[in-house]
Amino acid sequence: MNYKELAQFLFENIDKSPEYYEELYPERNLKEGARVTRFAPSPTGFLHFGNLFTCMIAYKTAKATDGVFYVRVEDTDQKRKVEGAIDVMLKGLAVYGINADEGVVGDDVEKGDYGPYYQSKRVDIYQCYAKWLVEQGLAYPCFCSAEELDEIRSEQENESIKGYWGKWAKCRDLSFEQIKANIEAGKSWTLRLKSPGDLEKKCFFDDMIKGKIEMPENVQDVVLLKSDGIPTYHFAHVVDDHLMRTTHIVRGDEWISSAPIHLQLFRLLGFKVPKYAHVAPIMKEENGGKRKLSKRKDPEAAVTYYAEQGYPQESVNEYMMTLANSNFEDWRRINKDEDISKFPFNLKKMSVSGALFDLVKLTDVSKNVICTMPAQRVFELSYEWAKEYNPLLASLYEQDKEKATAILNIDRENKKPRKDIAKWSDIPDYISYMYDETYNECYDLTGNATPSLAVRVLEEYIKVVDLSDDKDAWFSRMKEICPLVDCTPNVKEYKAEPEKFAGHIGDVSTVIRVALTGRTNTPDLFSITSLLGEETVKARLEKALEHYKEEQ
Ligand code: GLU
Repeated sequence: MNYKELAQFLFENIDKSPEYYEELYPERNLKEGARVTRFAPSPTGFLHFGNLFTCMIAYKTAKATDGVFYVRVEDTDQKRKVEGAIDVMLKGLAVYGINADEGVVGDDVEKGDYGPYYQSKRVDIYQCYAKWLVEQGLAYPCFCSAEELDEIRSEQENESIKGYWGKWAKCRDLSFEQIKANIEAGKSWTLRLKSPGDLEKKCFFDDMIKGKIEMPENVQDVVLLKSDGIPTYHFAHVVDDHLMRTTHIVRGDEWISSAPIHLQLFRLLGFKVPKYAHVAPIMKEENGGKRKLSKRKDPEAAVTYYAEQGYPQESVNEYMMTLANSNFEDWRRINKDEDISKFPFNLKKMSVSGALFDLVKLTDVSKNVICTMPAQRVFELSYEWAKEYNPLLASLYEQDKEKATAILNIDRENKKPRKDIAKWSDIPDYISYMYDETYNECYDLTGNATPSLAVRVLEEYIKVVDLSDDKDAWFSRMKEICPLVDCTPNVKEYKAEPEKFAGHIGDVSTVIRVALTGRTNTPDLFSITSLLGEETVKARLEKALEHYKEEQ
């Protein structure tokens, strides 16, 4: 068979040769060891947490070596295309500090010398390499219809290796005349690889995450171009990653099973095989077992969830690093104030089997992040969040932004800051008693604080409460109340002889705390009292007194 003639017949419009593209997209001029990685989403508009995670790994891999990170849009499946999807996805990445050096940087906006970065705009390039493969006798048109392929599948029921290969590959040996006749008769065709794979042989690769992998060689005559001339993922990614000079392909490990096809394609096309790093999926514990984090079952699978809940990007980034590298937390303990970008991220330290997503852990990580933020930043970030997701909180903030910041500053900016807030959506409840609009009275008491003790304490406190007190004076007043209500200011003394007292200073402050906030546990009561303001304090104390009088 004259393959050259066949190639020309099949791809008469393709006039460029692979050399042309090799020259157009030369090796990158980067320093030794610099890695080129990419994120290659299909434009579905949904950013799965697992995608963000994998993308973060690719990004860190490039950044750790002063390399290049680019975004390529895999939009060959037009059926799955969603309008505006790219913007949504890129914005999702940008929130977490991932901005591409190159590639698709906005809806229909590209930058860089290795484009186009939309696969749908690269059809001529794929067809050029497809034509070259036909010329080498390594690819051929297949005219099998869907029904014929089904038939083959049903005949293969008892075969251990299924698919279009060996004797099943009916179109493999068609003559030029047969091909010509089929095409002239208007039959549609796909282009298939004529796989030179040997069933007895193995292929090997050294995965950056999974280590050495050995698999049987590919023997399938996989489809390279679909009947509309558009490439499959297998073919497109090989051509693209070669021409875009990717050094490290970081992708989900669902692709491992097709790696033998990809290795074979790289070799047949004469391309250097890049390194692969297959990232295991993020897992979730369920009924004692593990399953993949699921878009359908887990709200936290959607990256938008974190924005909606108001997890700051720092928290999500910190959490992702704990999932990515097990030594991150040790590093963080030693480098408390260091920027996360200084962490020496290492692909080799990734989990082979899949890190476990744990909301409790995220909550913990996030509390640690938020507790060290200055109040001003907590205010600004939570205000931004509130404007979008909680208009009531935004309007409370707007009454007096300084007061709001001061509220958020209670027990913050000190050595042992409180860790009440894990996400901005915790704030409305956390500060609800600071505003009459959201305050819920609750007069439940704990410890020795009974309604009758409460009546006595409140009667005394109302007489002396003075908002111009400083903290020491405020506390002294509390202590002074103790003997008047048969309590002791000294907890030790109380513990030694509890029967002698109605309670201790803690019980006195509980009464006042509950009267002012409706809670038994709050941050610093002195700061709360000052910020509530005289009018509110008095009103709440009176109201509580009324309540306990009735209750006792
Ligand atoms: N478009 C593919 C996906 O979304 C990309 C895989 C890859 O990174 O090569 O799964």
